[in-house]
Amino acid sequence: MGRYVGPSCRICRREGMKLFLKGSKCETAKCQVERRQRSLAPGMHGWRKGRLSEYGVRLREKQKIKRYYGVYEQQFMRLFHEAARLPGNTGQNLLQLLERRLDNVVYKLNFAASRKAARQLITHGHVHINGRKVDIPDYIIKIGDKLTLKDSEKSLKRVKEQLESNPNFTTQGWLQLDREKPAATVVALPTRPDIQIPIEEQLVVEFCSR
Ligand code: ZN
Repeated sequence: MGRYVGPSCRICRREGMKLFLKGSKCETAKCQVERRQRSLAPGMHGWRKGRLSEYGVRLREKQKIKRYYGVYEQQFMRLFHEAARLPGNTGQNLLQLLERRLDNVVYKLNFAASRKAARQLITHGHVHINGRKVDIPDYIIKIGDKLTLKDSEKSLKRVKEQLESNPNFTTQGWLQLDREKPAATVVALPTRPDIQIPIEEQLVVEFCSR
């Protein structure tokens, strides 16, 4: 289980989609999806693209979703099996579980500039849920959960600076943000339209259940 440490927008180019792994970097020309050679995959053989097999299409769709949320294979498959167990559409269940991960929620509240930065904020113990420290980015939030920050000058300053850097930001309806504190409450679970990832989740389900 290797951790990728190369340029984050190289992954955007591989997947042909802005993944926002480094926050706003994807909004600049530095994101390689924007480059002239954007249709080419990275690496010296990128031109030798060819057509993907059915397997290949489904594999890339799964990789896209994993990279977007920054989860590893094992954790991803655990969520997939849970999604399959729940009633309803497995693909939508899977997306909803991924969206409910604490690191994603912290990012969606703009407490951190990217999901990666959100994971750091969490593992360093700055995030509390219902009054207790939760330092696990994989934590799945529930309706009614109240997010607060560790009562330290450092935690509060860090998040307030991030919120101030993006004053026009609005969070999604399933999250209620109190910018002053800062704090937040989960008032609903995210639905498919809330999850803006351009992905065909059915292909991911087909890949995982093969
Ligand atoms: Zn990018």
